[in-house]
Amino acid sequence: MTVAEPHRIKSVEPLHMPTAAEREEAISRAGYNTFLLRSEEVYIDLLTDSGTSAMSDSQWSALMTGDEAYAGSSSFYRLEEAVRAVYGFQHVVPTHQGRGAEHILSQIAIKPGQYVPGNMYFTTTRAHQELAGGIFEDVIVDEAHDPQSRHPFKGDVDLGKLERLIDRVGAQNIAYVNVAVTVNMAGGQPVSMANLRATHYLCRRHGILLWCDATRCVENAYFIKEREQGYAGRTVASILHEMMAYFDGCTMSGKKDCLVNIGGFLALNDESLLRRARELVVLFEGMPTYGGLAGRDMAAMAQGIHEMVDDAYIAHRVHQVRYLGERLIAAGVPIVEPIGGHAVFVDAARFLPHLPRERFPAQALAAALYLDSGVRAMERGTVSAGRDPNTGRDRIPRLELVRLTIPRRVYTDRHLDVVAESVVGLYRHGESVRGLRMTYEPPTLRFFTARFEPAPEERHLRLCDGK
Ligand SMILES: *Cc1c(COP(=O)(O)O)cnc(C)c1O
Repeated sequence: MTVAEPHRIKSVEPLHMPTAAEREEAISRAGYNTFLLRSEEVYIDLLTDSGTSAMSDSQWSALMTGDEAYAGSSSFYRLEEAVRAVYGFQHVVPTHQGRGAEHILSQIAIKPGQYVPGNMYFTTTRAHQELAGGIFEDVIVDEAHDPQSRHPFKGDVDLGKLERLIDRVGAQNIAYVNVAVTVNMAGGQPVSMANLRATHYLCRRHGILLWCDATRCVENAYFIKEREQGYAGRTVASILHEMMAYFDGCTMSGKKDCLVNIGGFLALNDESLLRRARELVVLFEGMPTYGGLAGRDMAAMAQGIHEMVDDAYIAHRVHQVRYLGERLIAAGVPIVEPIGGHAVFVDAARFLPHLPRERFPAQALAAALYLDSGVRAMERGTVSAGRDPNTGRDRIPRLELVRLTIPRRVYTDRHLDVVAESVVGLYRHGESVRGLRMTYEPPTLRFFTARFEPAPEERHLRLCDGK
């Protein structure tokens, strides 16, 4: 059944396709890192779904009614009302984006040396946990690390792993458990309600706080509606409310599910944690009633929070991502399955089997895709995983992926047809994609700014293969 866009288009932005020569020039100048391309050099931009959403007419009008008072802005109270209604948390601390909230949570809740178990790491989340002296421990189910496993809830916490960690280090040495819904790095994979409930009771039994990275919580709620028994007849809004009830609080990147271009927040119920969060927000972000945002940004986010739980909107969102994924599957392209909520993740390790991990196959594939069609994607593999802070060695994650991320309400299925044709074409000639060598590496979050060049020995390797 066709799921059409639940909106019509009122304002358009022209696209420009750079020539092959321009693309070659651009990717070489960008050090083969798609993060370093200029947006005017890109035709279809699937780098990220972060801050790239199209706002609705109601959000644009909310911008005009934003209250820019330094303190006590009515836009803050509008945001607070939206968070209470949709998430069910009593208090909200606005931040400039999700990592601002992660920073504050890590600083108020982690003592140096404490463990912070989570269902797979996320780049900025783990960086802030480590900055606060925390030790990240992966407690996701094994299936999450297997791109070919069809487990319907690959984001689930492995309760056995979590219990063994608690037994090993003691509950007092666990700062809190952090559960992301959906799990971005696993391929936008959801967590089941049953697993959230069980994790909640396990944490409660041990007196451990349970925090949520709610960045893509609405996509997760939609998957629960589709896949988990007993939820098919429920609204996404009521499923989300139930999910959040299992947590002590959440960090949120408003740039994803909240349908805004900038913004985030920390939401919670506990008054003493709230007091400490507010003490820090004035230091790092701004007054507690604006936290690094303009009043108009809070107003647009409040409106986006109401829109994001519209059943027709979220059904189309998830189905559009699936549309692209199914086109690739039909052509035999290896992708992470089941198809996730915000992106299609191409399995670069299987796509480019001739490249060893030290040649950054996912980074190389993202660069090759841009060269082929002006489509910008993102590496989510060895470059994103960075180095172990203790050993200084590359962390080699099992997943070596290229993420084709679909911005919300921005592109049509025809755009995705162009993307699919390019990926399928490359797959047919995968052996022509050269590996890369890193020429510049920043000390943290290296994937944003690292530079690369084509690796010289590739040609030699292929010659030895007789190709
Ligand atoms: C984007 C993201 C964040 C960080 O949010 P920003 O708004 O980019 O700072 C945290 N967690 C997850 C899962 C994300 O995708």
